[in-house]
Amino acid sequence: MTVASGSQGQPRSDQPGQLPAAAGRPAPLILVVEDQPPLLRALQLNLRARQYGVLTAASGREALAVAASSPPDAMILDLGLPDMDGTNVIVAFRVRSRAPIIVLSGRTSPGDKIGALDAGADDYVTKPFAMAELLARLRAALRRDEAHGQAAPAVAAIGRWTIDLTAYTIFQSDVRTYPADSPAPSLTPTEWRLLQILLRRPGQLVSSAQLLADVWGPGFQNRTNYLRFHMARLRRKLEEDPSRPRHLLTEPGMGYRYQP
Ligand code: CA
Repeated sequence: MTVASGSQGQPRSDQPGQLPAAAGRPAPLILVVEDQPPLLRALQLNLRARQYGVLTAASGREALAVAASSPPDAMILDLGLPDMDGTNVIVAFRVRSRAPIIVLSGRTSPGDKIGALDAGADDYVTKPFAMAELLARLRAALRRDEAHGQAAPAVAAIGRWTIDLTAYTIFQSDVRTYPADSPAPSLTPTEWRLLQILLRRPGQLVSSAQLLADVWGPGFQNRTNYLRFHMARLRRKLEEDPSRPRHLLTEPGMGYRYQP
């Protein structure tokens, strides 16, 4: 099945000249790759309503052709496409662009998610999905991309604690809100390495394989039990309610995310 308008390789932009340019900048251009026409249409309408420029493609080859002629600022990508696997679209897109890719897929197996993230996707939303969540993930991805090149944050907050990633110190953020009733937690070198990776990428999903490789080294990519153990310890030390973490989040089957 193909979408109703446009021919292969021809970018279909939705009147980009009429999009309000916020603060003198053009509206971000989003490439939506989806082979189900109703869903493609719904995504297109929702993005246009929020003043994004929208390009659409209904197959992998069409997506790559559109991206080559009109480089998008971000891509929303279905994995199950009629002509090629979406993971291969990610690999081919990454050759020429660093723009964020959000996978939107009905595939929920850890293997599919990890494969897409390792290929270069930035985030993964499973179908059925809430449009508001997808749009929030898109905004976060665009913000991160805009901040790319700026220095990574050196200080982050988790609950009552402010964590200085450069000085390797933890102190209480506000003694008025939180009485100084307990000493700041002390972290092990492994816990510090995990925090360094997560807290320097606020809001960003970091795959388990990447965390394991960065902290323990190559050959440890499957030891997700290490991560569960150390993340549980970090939550006990830093989260207000370790059983309901608000900042050190698990993304099941994918990895972890620091939510500021
Ligand atoms: Ca599909």
